[in-house]
Amino acid sequence: MATVTKIMARPQVHQTECFIGGQWLPAASGKTFETIHPATEEVIAQVAEGDAEDVDQAVAAARAQFDHGEWSRMDARDRGRLMQKLADLLEDEADALAALETLDNGKPIRDAKAADIPLVIDCIRYYAGWADKIQGQTIPVRGDYFCYTRREPVGVVGQIIPWNFPALMTAWKWGPALAAGCTIVMKPAEQTPLTCLRMARLAQKAGIPDGVINVVPGYGPTAGAAIVKHPGVDKVAFTGELATAQIIQREAAATMKRLTFELGGKSPNIVFADADLDAAAAGAHFAIYFNQGQCCCAGSRLFVEDTIHDELVDRLQQQNRKLRLGDPFDPETEQGPQIDQAQFDKILKYVEYGKQDGARCVSGGVRHGDTGYYIEPTLFTEVTDDMRIARDEIFGPVLSVLKFSDVDELARRANDTNFGLAAAVWTRDIGKAHRLAHRLRAGTVWVNCYDVFDAGAPFGGFKQSGLGRELGEAGLAAYTESKTVTVAMG
Ligand code: ADP
Repeated sequence: MATVTKIMARPQVHQTECFIGGQWLPAASGKTFETIHPATEEVIAQVAEGDAEDVDQAVAAARAQFDHGEWSRMDARDRGRLMQKLADLLEDEADALAALETLDNGKPIRDAKAADIPLVIDCIRYYAGWADKIQGQTIPVRGDYFCYTRREPVGVVGQIIPWNFPALMTAWKWGPALAAGCTIVMKPAEQTPLTCLRMARLAQKAGIPDGVINVVPGYGPTAGAAIVKHPGVDKVAFTGELATAQIIQREAAATMKRLTFELGGKSPNIVFADADLDAAAAGAHFAIYFNQGQCCCAGSRLFVEDTIHDELVDRLQQQNRKLRLGDPFDPETEQGPQIDQAQFDKILKYVEYGKQDGARCVSGGVRHGDTGYYIEPTLFTEVTDDMRIARDEIFGPVLSVLKFSDVDELARRANDTNFGLAAAVWTRDIGKAHRLAHRLRAGTVWVNCYDVFDAGAPFGGFKQSGLGRELGEAGLAAYTESKTVTVAMG
C-alpha cells in the first residue's frame, strides 16, 4: 500500500497562455479550455484557447524572426550553444517537468522520470550537436563551373503533436527545427498543453530569441487547421491519427507545404520458440502495456510460435496480475489511467468487439476502480487476423495474441496491415532474426528488445504509418531545403 508521504506532491502550473513573439498572451477571443488530471478527472487549469487569430499572430512572429531576425543567421555553433543551455535548464527542472507531465497526462511518475524527461533532454542535446554540422556538398559538374549545395532551414514550421508523450513529442519536433535554424509555431494537444508551455518558458530563459518558438494551445479543427492552411507556414510536422493526417495532406496541398507525418500502428511482435522466454515475456508485456498502451508503436499483435503459446500466455497473465495500477504520483505505480473519457470508451468498445468476434478475454477487459479512466491490462487469446482487435489500432492496454507455425506464412500475416510503424522479433537465431527483419514492412524493427529509442536512430512509418522520418540525421534533413549554387569560373 502506498503511504501518503511517498506520493509526490502535485506540481504548480505556471504557464497557461499562448506564447507568441516572446509574450504570454490570452487567446484573442478571450476563450479558455480546461485541462484535466486523468486519474481524478479534476480540472487542473484553464488554458488559453487559441484559434485562427492567435495562429496568425504566431506565424507573423515566427515569420519576422525567420525573415529578418538573428536565429537562422547566427553562427551555427552559437545556435547549438543556446540549445545546450535549454537542455541544461530542462535538466535542472527534470523532476518538476516529470510531475507536470504526470499531472496533465496521467502517466506514472516513474515513467515520466525514467523515460520521458531524460529522452527530452537527450533529444535537445543530440540536435544541439548537429547545429554546426549541417553541411552541403561540392559537385564535380561538367564544364568550368564550381557547383556546391547548401542545406538551408525550411523556414517557419507548424508542429502539431498528440497527448501520449507531450514533452517528448515537443522535443522531437523542436530539436531538428532549432538546429536547422527554423522558427516554430507549435500546437500541443488540447488534452496536454502544460509541459510544452513550460518548455517554451525555459527556451526563453535559455536565451533562444523571441519569435523562434511560438506555442498556440487550442483545438485541432480551429488552431491546428489554421496552422495547416496558413500561407506563411512552410512545413507542417504532425504526429497523430491517420484520418487527421489525411485532412492535413489535403489542406496543405494548396500551399505545397512540406509534410512529415508520424501516425498509427498495429505492430507485430513475433516470438519464436527458440527465444529467451523470460526476456520475450517481459518484452512482450512492456511492448503493449507501457504508457497504458498509448504508444503508436505498441506491440499490439503478439505472434507466438504455437509450441510456446500456452507458456507465454501464462507468463503474460501472471505479469498482469502483478501490475500495479493506481495513483500515477505514487512512485510504485506502473499503470495509470487512459487519457480521457473518449479513449476509455473506445478501448472498452474494442474489448466488446473482441468478445463478439470470438476471441477469449483471459485477463482484464474491465474498468479498474470508479474514479479516473483506468482499464485493467487486457489480454485476448484465440485471436484471428480478420478480427477488429487484430486489425485496428486500439491505443490502450489491450493485447491480441495470435499463433503461428510457419515463418513464410508468419511474414505474410505480419505485413497484412495498412500500418508499418514498428515490429519486433524474439529469437536466439540471429540469422533468422535478420532475415525476418528485412522482410517486415516497418520503419523500425527491434530484435530481442522493444521500444528502444535513441535521438540518433530514425523513427517513422512505412505505408499509412507515416511520411518521412523523425530523429537522427534523417529527421534533421526534413527541416532543411537543399540549394544548389553554380558559379562560372571563367
Ligand atoms: P489523437 O487521437 O492522438 O488525439 P489526433 O490526430 O486527433 O490524434 O490529434 C493529434 C493532434 O492533431 C492534436 O494536437 C489535435 O488537436 C490535432 N488535430 C486534430 N484535428 C486537426 C485538424 N483538422 N487539423 C490540424 N490539427 C488537428
